[in-house]
Amino acid sequence: MAQIFTIVGARPQFIKAAAMTRAIAASSHWSQIILHTGQHYDSLLSDIFFSELNLPKPTFTLQLAASERAERMVEMRNGIQKALLISNPDVVLVYGDTDSTLAGAQIAHKLKIPLIHIEAGLRSFDLDMPEESNRIETDKLSDLLVAPTRTAVENLKNEGLLNFIYSGDIMHDNALHFTKDTICERTSSVLVTIHRPSNVDSKDRLLLWIDAISNFCISNNTSAVFPVHPRTEKGLVEIFGDMFKDTLKHKCIHAIQPVSYLELLQLLKSSSLVVTDSGGVQKEAYSCGTSSIVIRHNTEWVELINSGHSVLCPEPQDLMYLAQSKLAQFIDNSDNLYGDGQASVRILKEISKRFSSL
Ligand code: UDP
Repeated sequence: MAQIFTIVGARPQFIKAAAMTRAIAASSHWSQIILHTGQHYDSLLSDIFFSELNLPKPTFTLQLAASERAERMVEMRNGIQKALLISNPDVVLVYGDTDSTLAGAQIAHKLKIPLIHIEAGLRSFDLDMPEESNRIETDKLSDLLVAPTRTAVENLKNEGLLNFIYSGDIMHDNALHFTKDTICERTSSVLVTIHRPSNVDSKDRLLLWIDAISNFCISNNTSAVFPVHPRTEKGLVEIFGDMFKDTLKHKCIHAIQPVSYLELLQLLKSSSLVVTDSGGVQKEAYSCGTSSIVIRHNTEWVELINSGHSVLCPEPQDLMYLAQSKLAQFIDNSDNLYGDGQASVRILKEISKRFSSL
């Protein structure tokens, strides 16, 4: 059997890998080895996804010791190189835009192993986001660029990167796959996720977002459910102390631990609105038929904004009126903005066509 070497490291990549893993499992030609870079090692951000999404246990798991980005990149590259030399796979698969993506891309390219980038061509045009430079460099190093949207295809063409296919989005595949039998009632509740450094690393800014969400909930006689990312928790503890959950409760915000993927989908399906700065969650809101307020200055998922399914809210003071305009505005997602739910099957077919004779 030909071998795919999959590199993952962060929560969204475990979810993305689940869609490809289903396609690989159904193929008689390909087998898969997984390397976990250890970028997210917290069990609530990592282990739970492997068990819930039926991902094979990683063959290689790196233990990162450094906390500084440049040093972690070195650790990741060294670990990935060792594993690739042992495994000698036919192709390397990387997802998205994290440091794990870039480290994997650099080493696959160096070792001249065909590199496939899933989620290629996304651009926020904001080089202050580390993800943006990760995306651009990974795309330049890749042998096959898998674009999830038509906009991503245009971005690649504009950069002269022509070794692409359009596939649709594998996260949309997953959301449809895992909710096809879900029946749940809408509540008036708002789902909130915030974790981008630009929103949570400054205490002042995080507090402005919390107050804006709280004021919105109070004015609309509703409440928010808020699975708190570890990075955000750090800020909340600094602002409100260890008992931050109690303080937030008085503000109509129910702060909870990060939830599993299936729980998150359930929340997305039952909420009346989503307020998020997550790349994945804004799309999954669409997949689940729920409008979202994207609390960022820009997004690489521009079709959500252009279609009116989501709205950008760069500043906390704009949240009240924007959220009011979107509350309980449920979405008809039959416009297939992110494909037909079969992206992973299409991607594997293309990989077979191009690389299986290697
Ligand atoms: N997610 C989850 N539980 C949570 C919050 C998020 O399972 O409590 C999932 C969700 O599917 C999302 C993915 O994790 O698409 C990645 O989200 P995150 O916000 O960490 O990263 P981003 O998409 O912004 O890169």
